[in-house]
Amino acid sequence: MAAGLYAQNVPWDAHRAFGYLEKQVQFGPRIPGSREHLACRDWIVAHAEAFADTVIVQQFRAYRPVTGDTVDAFNIIARFHAGGAKRVMLSTHWDTRPFADRDPLSPGRPVPGANDGASGTAVLMEMMEHIPMLPGDTGIDVVFWDAEDMGIAGSGEGFCQGSEYYARHPVEPLPEKGILIDMIGDHELRIPVEANSMRYAPQLVAEVWEIARRLGYREVFPLETGPEVYDDHVPLNETAGIPTINVIDFHYTARGRNLWHTTRDLPSYCSPRSLQIIGEVLVTWITEQ
Ligand SMILES: [Zn+2]
Repeated sequence: MAAGLYAQNVPWDAHRAFGYLEKQVQFGPRIPGSREHLACRDWIVAHAEAFADTVIVQQFRAYRPVTGDTVDAFNIIARFHAGGAKRVMLSTHWDTRPFADRDPLSPGRPVPGANDGASGTAVLMEMMEHIPMLPGDTGIDVVFWDAEDMGIAGSGEGFCQGSEYYARHPVEPLPEKGILIDMIGDHELRIPVEANSMRYAPQLVAEVWEIARRLGYREVFPLETGPEVYDDHVPLNETAGIPTINVIDFHYTARGRNLWHTTRDLPSYCSPRSLQIIGEVLVTWITEQ
């Protein structure tokens, strides 16, 4: 069955997906160690359990570089077609940054994380409802990384702790390749090729950007090199050996003002349409595996 047919028959629900984004922001900041974080974890796990074959919660201790102590953190792994000979991974981070250190007015306050945290999670929450209906029996691990955004800017220390933990303690059987999504809710979505992705997995970049072009999203996915981002795909490539690309719009602004890692990372600067575009690209990629 062609992906287009699937898309016509079972429309990917952009508004339901956007509701998942808003719901996360309503929980409050999802900072490891907080009550809101645990509430959001339970909500993701319950949703995953309704659709996936198996849900594995990988608990670990995350280091807080600012306070120097550790807190409980949780990677959530939803496994579909557990017996599939071939496996792929779709992933995103679900935690939010404890401090808005790019905010000119309130750098100590937490980031609401509508785009940075909730957008990728919303897309994968919606995705899980569709995967059981997709043709084929390719195994799919949908993974929500925790403790991605606790690091100290500029030092590189303390970022991507969930994917680093998984890379050192992988859950067998390992996927053979994967797509990471992060900050894909931007109301002005534009996703150039992330520089590390091109180095690690150029073939996968070509596949995904070709799908986007075919779906009519050539302007959203320009074939040009964007910023190099240290994100969860780095430990997946370097430590776990899973070729993974990062689909990310690192340029998150409104009227020329930066929203990334500020208190203005809010649903009003995100759009259902952006979640829809990413959803369509991922559904098509999955059906072509
Ligand atoms: Zn961030």
